Amino acid sequence: MAEAKPLYDTYNRAPMVFERGHGVWLETPTGERYLDFAAGIAVNSLGHTHPHLVETLKSQADKLWHLSNVYEMPDQTRLAKRLCEVTFADKVFFTNSGAEALECAIKTARRHFFVNEQPGRYRIITMEGAFHGRTLATIAAGGQAKYLEGFGPKVEGFDQVPFGDLEALKAVICEETAAILVEPVQGEGGIRALSRQWMRDLRDLCDEEGILLVLDEVQSGVGRTGKLFAHEWAGITPDIMAVAKGIGGGFPFGACLATADAADGMTAGTHGTTYGGNPLAMAVGNAVLDVVLADGFLTHVNDIALVLNQGLASLKDRYPDLIEDIRGTGLMLGIKCAKPNAELVMAMRNEHLLAVPAGDNVVRLLPPLIVTAEEARDALSRIEAALDTLSRKAN
Ligand code: PLP
Repeated sequence: MAEAKPLYDTYNRAPMVFERGHGVWLETPTGERYLDFAAGIAVNSLGHTHPHLVETLKSQADKLWHLSNVYEMPDQTRLAKRLCEVTFADKVFFTNSGAEALECAIKTARRHFFVNEQPGRYRIITMEGAFHGRTLATIAAGGQAKYLEGFGPKVEGFDQVPFGDLEALKAVICEETAAILVEPVQGEGGIRALSRQWMRDLRDLCDEEGILLVLDEVQSGVGRTGKLFAHEWAGITPDIMAVAKGIGGGFPFGACLATADAADGMTAGTHGTTYGGNPLAMAVGNAVLDVVLADGFLTHVNDIALVLNQGLASLKDRYPDLIEDIRGTGLMLGIKCAKPNAELVMAMRNEHLLAVPAGDNVVRLLPPLIVTAEEARDALSRIEAALDTLSRKAN
């Protein structure tokens, strides 16, 4: 009789176990090492067991784990203040995950119009290929049939347009539209970036129409693209932004950032969370910022991105039958495959290099931001070996 499986069957798990991690490396119980260019899907921004994060978490664990948000938490206020100082935002709400940060963003946008005497403005326009999380509202926002199927009526109030189609977007805007929600670089959608000019046009459109621009930087934020946040490349700012993943460096938390104007409806009692902003998360969040905001950190991300980009471009030239395109910015890179992406992910895994499949037949490379040039070159050699194996198989 087959052994009963105690976990939900929601994941197709790879038959691999990792016992420990250090920097960019993961280790199995038998001591096999893997170069981790998945980083928990852009989560382990500072790699595994970063000394400053470990030290901070241990020391906070000795002091205080949890407090209700009905009390003052100096570290929470400090982290919010630091985030406001380095972004467009005036206000921050801390959550436990990316989807919750998006929920807060959606509620903030709707509530803004509610308190400004336009309660009929609640619709939010999103983009095809988007991924915003797995709660009922965020699957409606993402609009992907495979995530919506079987979960009852789709949450009302989301309209979707083809990726990057500004004219379609303009056509959908109506007097009920509250906001436009986009990822500056789609992650799960296949490392698809909206161009800088497009982002500027989008900002202008929101201003002309009096609607809010909401950005999902859960995957693209906190240094991932070589700027602190990806929208900075376009020189624009949103009204509301959802953040998670890299901001916790592996400790689960997220944040919704907003201008004071956009957040004007989020008054006492309108929103809440038991765990969001807890002392452990806030200690780690402050420690992540210590590293990411230090001089030279983003320059390092851009330097390594150059090494990887050049290497990948040359692999694309050498394996045109296997690689169609190289995409992405900073350390959020994608290999658009000419053959099924799962084959490349598997071939890379056989070379002890971990990466993540994405939509549009792309393999995502999302290494920890602390990856060295030597480790980047090591990864390129492993990708080359994987491509070599695949091309020999094909011939
Ligand atoms: N938004 C984006 C762009 C994401 O990539 C993800 C997760 O992959 C989410 C939202 C949801 O975050 P979480 O899984 O923490 O709820």
